[in-house]
Amino acid sequence: MSRSIEQTDAHIFKTYGRFPIAFVRGEGAWLWDDAGRRYLDFLSGIAVCNLGHCHPAVVRAATEQLERLVHVSNFFYTAPQAELAEQLTRHSFADRVFFCNSGAEANEAALKLARRYGNAAAGGPRSEVITMQASFHGRTFATLAATAQAKVQEGFAPLMPGFVYVPFNDFDALQAAVNARTCAVMLEPIQGEGGVNVPDADYLKRVRGLCDRAGLLLIFDEVQVGMGRTGRLFAHEHFGVTPDIMTLAKALGGGLPLGAMLASQRVADLFTPGSHASTFGGNPVATAAGCAVMRELLDGGVLENCRAMGLYLQDRLEELQKRRPEAVACVRGRGLILGMELRGSGKPVVDRCLADGLILNCTADRILRFLPPLIITRAQVDECCAILDRALGAAG
Ligand SMILES: *Cc1c(COP(=O)(O)O)cnc(C)c1O
Repeated sequence: MSRSIEQTDAHIFKTYGRFPIAFVRGEGAWLWDDAGRRYLDFLSGIAVCNLGHCHPAVVRAATEQLERLVHVSNFFYTAPQAELAEQLTRHSFADRVFFCNSGAEANEAALKLARRYGNAAAGGPRSEVITMQASFHGRTFATLAATAQAKVQEGFAPLMPGFVYVPFNDFDALQAAVNARTCAVMLEPIQGEGGVNVPDADYLKRVRGLCDRAGLLLIFDEVQVGMGRTGRLFAHEHFGVTPDIMTLAKALGGGLPLGAMLASQRVADLFTPGSHASTFGGNPVATAAGCAVMRELLDGGVLENCRAMGLYLQDRLEELQKRRPEAVACVRGRGLILGMELRGSGKPVVDRCLADGLILNCTADRILRFLPPLIITRAQVDECCAILDRALGAAG
């Protein structure tokens, strides 16, 4: 067994179920382990490496910044975070950006901003946030309470109060849950961890309407589905709706740790000097990488490839479903976040694919989740489907 595996198993908290593979190199959609074996990556570090591994533009931007200036503090100004903030606001509904280092932190910032909003509300303080069943918003105390999944919350009582859960894609249940204490609705436009759940075409529009009528903030967690994953820069663009607050992380830094909370001016004004902070937030190296990611997504043909390959992969998966109806219940998703719902457990299929050189993920027990880099090619999609077909055949 490799030294990395021994050291990890001996010295790192056992918070992750890991496969016994140690990776040493990546390029595009390929990864190599320490024995020199090559794998096709349909996970992308969980929707992080959207441009593939070691994209030259990201490597160049980060390396150049690393050699010039690594860190100062947010008492001062630096060019990369200024540039990335301008890019993000220019290409979204938002007027202002708060930078942090992860998805959970971005959601913490959003929830703190929602508190400010609720506490300043006419008619008395409001502090309840409605979130969705099967959601995922992070593992910190506030985001854990926002995440309506018993298995994530188990053993951490008492949870932070002030969260109410309703089923995803059920407008009537949401409307019924709104009361005089509600200040915000927070949801993923497409649920990732919950099983690649895509809402009905008009659901988010109705949610937006309800928020407007009741004076609630609408918060979209685009940590997983933002940054081009669905074939548009932000997933909510598919639904013709804009939120008041949006959170980003995962793919934002091209593999470097970077998160952001974005808001419209009206809401952003509620944060003033001292309201919130992060030592590393907007770090020059991470944001320089983020600028390169934005340029590639917008000008490098990556969104177009994501849309085309997303449709192609979805077709191929639906073909598989038709040929193996005993194993596959349905296929769903948008762009290059696709889910294949199996009739049985996904774990043996994932294990067989891995043994055959394909990295796939299973979420919510029975949903195979496809998150290839957005630069994936037709030949690589074909290779994925051939391996998956063999794995399904062996499992059935
Ligand atoms: C991954 C994820 C998070 C948490 O991000 P971390 O960087 O792990 O804190 C939050 N929301 C969604 C939708 C995610 O997929």
